[in-house]
Amino acid sequence: MHAGIRYTIIKNAYYCKRCAHTIESTHRRDYKECPCGAVGIDGGLDSGATLSGNPADMETRCVYMATVNGQVQYLDEHTLQISAHPPATPATQ
Ligand SMILES: [Zn+2]
Repeated sequence: MHAGIRYTIIKNAYYCKRCAHTIESTHRRDYKECPCGAVGIDGGLDSGATLSGNPADMETRCVYMATVNGQVQYLDEHTLQISAHPPATPATQ
């Protein structure tokens, strides 16, 4: 059952490859920019969160929460990309 899984973003953060800083926006009007100015984020955990800068300069550090069969699981972006192509989900009772 994959259809019932919903992901909720719990951390809106990005890493700037140019200055090696991670910035995090925690609420809607919380605009953050890295020290070198290459990457900026806004919007916190709202679905309308905005990102400014060159995608090549940044890496996501967002964290998502999913409730799977009543169990809360925390996932980072990398894990989400893996699970987008589920090879074999662990057998659940
Ligand atoms: Zn930077």
